[in-house]
Amino acid sequence: MNRLAVFPGSFDPLHLGHLDVLRRASGLFDNVIVAIGRNTTKSALYSVEDRLAMVEKACADIPNISVESFTGLTADFCRSRGARYLVRGLRNPSDADYEIPIAHMNAQLAEGLETVFLLTAPQYSMLRSTIVREIHRSGGDIKQWVPWG
Ligand code: ADP
Repeated sequence: MNRLAVFPGSFDPLHLGHLDVLRRASGLFDNVIVAIGRNTTKSALYSVEDRLAMVEKACADIPNISVESFTGLTADFCRSRGARYLVRGLRNPSDADYEIPIAHMNAQLAEGLETVFLLTAPQYSMLRSTIVREIHRSGGDIKQWVPWG
């Protein structure tokens, strides 16, 4: 059986915490699709097209990872691709508080969809795209947190 997982998010921008989860997921599943949500937010730093290119470049050496964008429900996207696994990263207990009800809801929206949580690598536990965007917008250097740095 082909174990296909989806790793959804905004990835604006992709950072080293995401990449670490992705590399580990690529070892657990036959294939992993990075799914970039197209939900329009005014505060986006990078276009979805730039983010697709960013992920493609950063994962070029990992053969079982592909990247797509999507609109609508994550559960519907997983179902449309025949994915039974949804990967999410957890940085802290607040992430778990937020993620667990969503995982339960997704399992109802797409029957049999299993959310698999991977714990952050400790060195990336403080890393989130919102903070990276803020630092970049305020003229700070983000290269230590992103794959192209
Ligand atoms: P962010 O949370 O950085 O703004 P996203 O919303 O795009 O980014 O997150 C996509 C997925 O990556 C989520 O499951 C999120 O929990 C996970 N993730 C984000 N940052 C980290 C990190 N530093 N370590 C592990 N997983 C993370």
